[in-house]
Amino acid sequence: MKDYRTLSLWHDGLPEPIVPRPQLEGPQAVDVAIVGAGYTGLWAAYYLAKADPHLRIAVLEKEVAGFGASGRNGGWCSSFFPASWDTIARARDREGERDRGREAAVALQRAMFETVDEVGRVAAEEGIDARFRKGGALTLAMNQAQLTRLREDLDEQRAWGFGEEDYAWLDAGEARRRVAVDGALGAHYTPHCAALDPARLARGLADTVERLGVKLYEQTPVFALGGRYAQTPNGAVAADVVVRATEGYTPELPQYHRELVPLYSLMIATEPLPDAMWERLGWAGRECLGDGRHLIIYAQRTADGRIAVGGRGAPYHFRSRVSDAFDRDQRIFSRVEASLLGLFPFLRDTRITHRWGGPIGIPRDWYSSVGYDMASGYAWAGGYVGDGVGTSNLAGRTLADLVLGRDTDLIRLPWVNRRPRPWEPEPLRWVALNGALRLMDLADAQERRTGRPSQLGTAIDTLIGA
Ligand SMILES: Cc1cc2nc3c(=O)[nH]c(=O)nc-3n(C[C@H](O)[C@H](O)[C@H](O)COP(=O)(O)OP(=O)(O)OC[C@H]3O[C@@H](n4cnc5c(N)ncnc54)[C@H](O)[C@@H]3O)c2cc1C
Repeated sequence: MKDYRTLSLWHDGLPEPIVPRPQLEGPQAVDVAIVGAGYTGLWAAYYLAKADPHLRIAVLEKEVAGFGASGRNGGWCSSFFPASWDTIARARDREGERDRGREAAVALQRAMFETVDEVGRVAAEEGIDARFRKGGALTLAMNQAQLTRLREDLDEQRAWGFGEEDYAWLDAGEARRRVAVDGALGAHYTPHCAALDPARLARGLADTVERLGVKLYEQTPVFALGGRYAQTPNGAVAADVVVRATEGYTPELPQYHRELVPLYSLMIATEPLPDAMWERLGWAGRECLGDGRHLIIYAQRTADGRIAVGGRGAPYHFRSRVSDAFDRDQRIFSRVEASLLGLFPFLRDTRITHRWGGPIGIPRDWYSSVGYDMASGYAWAGGYVGDGVGTSNLAGRTLADLVLGRDTDLIRLPWVNRRPRPWEPEPLRWVALNGALRLMDLADAQERRTGRPSQLGTAIDTLIGA
């Protein structure tokens, strides 16, 4: 059996051992079957069980709860929604709600702001020690090009009607007073973000849903699913509703092979830093920290005084292959380490104790969705493009409302019941995705050199709706 503690810093730091729960032993009939015990599946189970304690709910997980990205991520519980407001508004306008697109995009963003607090609320109410700390997100401008772009982002946010309380600018002095990063020219700041320990949240949620009566079967891979069934090696589960909550692993299901592509995000963590170093660094608010580059990096000060930092850039693997072997890539680890030292050169002699990664799910239009087709009984959520910690909670609440037929504001949000078109067949996918990754890297290098926003980077950002 796998040693689940080696999956990430967060798994390694769990206070209790990771012992798999029993697998499904034979055929079953339930009201709702949920495939995948990451945040999406667990939040859906949580809100369904809370709303109707009589529902028979089964969660089927091929490994253990929190095995996937939910246990391994950067712990940014952010209000970033995986699609730009322009993309959301245009899609809504096209869907026939002419001129309502803008309003819909703002409603979705406001729902994301509330989502950050909702995650903190449930963790506190259910006694989940997720080390949740709402210190906001700080995006540093590390060169003139990033400064120009981040200021433009802020202008756009103002034009969409968001004020200082949602998005603000910090000058170089204010930014460095928060986190002492030499060379920061300023920072974009939003208070709508919390740092948390991802595995503690996922494992805590799993315990919580079990307490609420949900049956959680681990070591139970589903190899086919449809509206009213999920097929496992030990028999089928028949259900009125089947929720697909498999995110980056979705391409492994033949029926859904081209629904999402898996891209890998990789992370490293330092040893706990001594107090003297923290005094020098500041970072007292545990703000989530990134900078304005195209190929993003994301960092947090962990509750036990480390820096955990991650980055994209790992290659896309032909035919959307997912493999534990791809969780680790020395070339990307070295790049992430170089990014860390770029921000904090004095960490040169600090030990890196953990290196890990995992797959995120990307839909063809880079715009996440949640939905339920009542006629077939099939429900889904995902395609979070690496912003799923907060978004999966909104998805869970929305799925519960959809399945229970409740008429709420959530089910009217513009990402509900969208069906992005499938990805292109190979080799087009491989060429396009690895090409885009390479171009983002080139755009960052160009901006570091020239100090001017790269046209190349802007073009890619527009293409993917970032
Ligand atoms: C390194 C890394 C850093 C990240 N950082 C951040 C961040 O800081 N902030 C943020 O918002 N997002 C971040 N993300 C993305 C975020 O973690 C995900 O969007 C989110 O966790 C997705 O949750 P999920 O439940 O949909 O998917 P997952 O957590 O991937 O869960 C899917 C589950 O389904 C199971 N499964 C899959 N297929 C089957 C099957 N056939 N049968 C049974 N079970 C199956 C898997 O084992 C897994 O447990 C990061 C991701 C990674 C990998």
